Amino acid sequence: MAENENELLSLRGRSAIVTGGGRGIGRAIATELARAGANLIITYRSNSSLADAAAHELRALGVGCQTAQADVREGGDLERVVKECQQTFGSVDILVNNAGMTNDNLVMRLSEEAWDEVMDTNLRGTFLATKAALRPMVRARWGRIINITSVVGVTGNAGQANYSAAKAGIIGFTRSVALEVASRGITVNAVAPGFVQTDMTAGLSDEQKELIKGRIPMDRYGETGEIAPIVAFLASDAAAYITGQTVNVDGGLVMT
Ligand code: NAP
Repeated sequence: MAENENELLSLRGRSAIVTGGGRGIGRAIATELARAGANLIITYRSNSSLADAAAHELRALGVGCQTAQADVREGGDLERVVKECQQTFGSVDILVNNAGMTNDNLVMRLSEEAWDEVMDTNLRGTFLATKAALRPMVRARWGRIINITSVVGVTGNAGQANYSAAKAGIIGFTRSVALEVASRGITVNAVAPGFVQTDMTAGLSDEQKELIKGRIPMDRYGETGEIAPIVAFLASDAAAYITGQTVNVDGGLVMT
């Protein structure tokens, strides 16, 4: 075991997969993992140019970084990414299930397609990537899985029944998998951001934004760079004894 705090926080020699790492919160997470020394595969669904730009920036930090196209709704895509990570960097140590989407409506107007799409991307995608990454982690008897859920998975949110159900599902999934693999040196935790300025929240009207801001004790939205450090910490040896937890990073919103 490393002797000082810096060594415990270092991810040098580790390999990480960040789904949806090309933009938004995923990009900030990938940057923080790279700063700690991890080699990375960042996946994207359709936005290859943003992912390529992110990978270029990450390589400038002195780590290996590749992009991979993968739809998290497709198990085969995720198995290919895991194999690619093993072949390129020799291991799969860290998985960050970050890819996600919303498709909001009041439940009476919510289409079955919008329900399925949001459940499949957020919840099923987290399951499929976890299943693919666990095999090499179990073999190595070391692994870190960090699932990005949301404050609305804890509190609920009118107009987001599909999204909050998927994100609540991720919290239950996190705890169950944590129990299954606790004895194998693998930890599984979740991070629940509050409202963060990304493309996902850019579509909210000014009125909705003001309404949400009024409920946040810190009276402001979060920045992507404020979500990333806890993910890097949970991925490190310093967090070896933490598993099955959901860490809220939301300016106090979950308490209101
Ligand atoms: P974002 O800017 O909209 O980025 C979403 C990312 O997910 C993109 O990289 C996108 O890939 C990827 N993605 C979406 N569907 C995918 C699919 N089917 N397969 C593979 N990748 C897919 O969102 P964000 O705000 O950074 O959100 C990141 C995570 O944080 C999500 O899980 C979200 O639910 C969660 N979160 C966000 C907030 C917030 O306020 N922003 C709050 C709580 C939780 P492409 O670039 O290729 O499209």
